[in-house]
Amino acid sequence: MDRGAELSTRLEAVKSELPSTVTLIVVTKTFPSSDAEILYALGQRHFGENRDSEGADKSEQLPDDAIWHFQGGVQSNKLKSIVKWSDYIHSLDDLSHAKRISQYAQELDKRQRCFIQVNLDEGQERPGQRSGVKPHQLMEFASATAGLLGLEIVGVMGVGPLHGDPNLAFANLNKSSLALQQEIPSANYISAGMSGDYKIAIEHGATHIRLGSSILGSRSPAP
Ligand SMILES: *Cc1c(COP(=O)(O)O)cnc(C)c1O
Repeated sequence: MDRGAELSTRLEAVKSELPSTVTLIVVTKTFPSSDAEILYALGQRHFGENRDSEGADKSEQLPDDAIWHFQGGVQSNKLKSIVKWSDYIHSLDDLSHAKRISQYAQELDKRQRCFIQVNLDEGQERPGQRSGVKPHQLMEFASATAGLLGLEIVGVMGVGPLHGDPNLAFANLNKSSLALQQEIPSANYISAGMSGDYKIAIEHGATHIRLGSSILGSRSPAP
């Protein structure tokens, strides 16, 4: 099967089972721009990347109406570039980053939409080393971002546990979402779920899922 037929089959298989309210982000990290172009031609518009340089390149290659999501670990020296090409940053968990994003967004006269990444280790037997604001610090973090011009908080993001209970993790993320909406009523998005756990995330209210391998195939190990 050629790559186009392969991607088309996998994309349609996933999409046919998704509730229409859920936004599918295809995570194209480590795959070539040609794959993103094939997916674009199939109608896919939301793309996710973990690295600044890859996201900058691919977003150049694709038409302007593609929507780019950055979900990788934030390095402050890359933020200016990330603000240029990304429509959404999913991995905000640091106030100094929020301030820089606000500054760069104002310079570019744009509104940078961000999810606050919440750490989902709470209650898990084997807590990992995941990033994210701790749930009990979420409100304080959210209110500290409130006055930052050019930055819009759209919701919460979480990465399920590597070994552990995804139901507990995503139920906790849903609670964090409700808490956040007390502070910022419009911030009602929940970015949760990857190839291995997105169905569970959707049961717990995910509005945005981030799928890589279930559509593109397995990634070669990161360099
Ligand atoms: C790589 C990655 C994904 C996609 O992972 P798959 O398991 O390939 O679906 C989603 N979210 C984040 C934060 C990632 O780093």
